[in-house]
Amino acid sequence: MIDHDTYPELERGTVAPDEMNLRPQNNFVNILVLRELQSHAVFTTNGQDADLASVAVGEGDERDEYSPGLMFMRKQTGSDRRFAKALQRDLGLFDEDEDDCTMQVNEMCQDCPECILYGSAAGDDAISITSRVMYDTAYTLRDATVVIDEKFQNAPGGDYAKTAEATIREPDFFEPGTLFPSVVTLRDATPAELAFVLGITRKNKRYGATTSRIGRTKNHILGVYAGSEEGPANLELTRDVIQRLQRDSAVEYDSLHDVTSAENLDPKRVANHVQESFDESISADNLDLNRISKNTVSELIEIATGDEFAEVLAEQREYSRQFLPDPE
Ligand SMILES: [Zn+2]
Repeated sequence: MIDHDTYPELERGTVAPDEMNLRPQNNFVNILVLRELQSHAVFTTNGQDADLASVAVGEGDERDEYSPGLMFMRKQTGSDRRFAKALQRDLGLFDEDEDDCTMQVNEMCQDCPECILYGSAAGDDAISITSRVMYDTAYTLRDATVVIDEKFQNAPGGDYAKTAEATIREPDFFEPGTLFPSVVTLRDATPAELAFVLGITRKNKRYGATTSRIGRTKNHILGVYAGSEEGPANLELTRDVIQRLQRDSAVEYDSLHDVTSAENLDPKRVANHVQESFDESISADNLDLNRISKNTVSELIEIATGDEFAEVLAEQREYSRQFLPDPE
C-alpha cells in the first residue's frame, strides 16, 4: 500500500487518509513538470487565437520582453480530469450496478477519489468540494512568432466563394517541440492521491483541443517536493530558465532575445535548467520544501501506472467517501 508507513518521506507534505478533512491545512506537494508538445496543438479560449502574454525577462541592460504562448490552467485540468475519470473506469473502480462518474458539471458523483481530490460543483443541496490539485497557467519559453503557426486554408467549394473572405483561418497551432515549464501542486492530499496524480501526469498524452492527431504532449516529471508551502510559480520559473539558458556556455546565446527567438530548444537541457531553477529558489527563498527521493517517485509512478493501482484506488475511495459530511 502507499501510506506513511511504506513511504515515511511523505509524512511531510501529505496527510494520512483518516486525517482528510474539509478544513485546509498547509501540507503541500509540488510536482515539477516540463510539458513538451510532440505534435501540433491548439490552446485557445476563443476557438481561434492562441492566448498570449507580454513578459519582461532579465534586468538592466539585458532586460528584454517577449510574447509567450499560454496554456491556461483550465486546459491542463480539463484534460487531466477526463484522463483520471477514464483511468478509474479502466481499473474497474465502479461496480456493475453503479453509474460511472462524469465530466458534466453538477452531475459529478462526489463519491470517487477523482471528484473528492479534483473538486466538484454540486447540484441542488449538495456541497461543493474545492479542488486540492492546483494548476497554474503555463508559458512557453520562446516567443509566439516561433512557437505559433497561423494556418490558412482556402475555403472548400468553388463558385460561391471566390472573394477574399474565402480564405478560412484555422486556429493557431503551437509547433511540436514547444516547451512549458509547469508546476502542479497538491494540498492536503494523501500519499495514494499523490500517486494518482503522478500516474495521470505520466500517462496523459493529450492536451488542448484534440483530434486523434494533434495535442500530443509528453510530460517529463522532473521532481516532487513536499513541505508546508508552495514553490515558485510557473511565470517566475519560466523567466529564470530563459536567463539560465542565456548564461549556459554550451549553447552560446548572445542575448535573451536569442533564447526566446530560437528555432528550437533541447528538452533535456531545458529540463536540467528547470530543475536547477526550482532547487535554487527553494534554497534562495528558504522555502520549507524537501525533494522526495528519485527512488520513491519512480516507485509511486510504477504503482500508479500499473494494474495493481486498482486496489490502491479502491482503498482510497473508502476514505474519500467519508470526506464529505453525511447529508442531513
Ligand atoms: Zn466522481
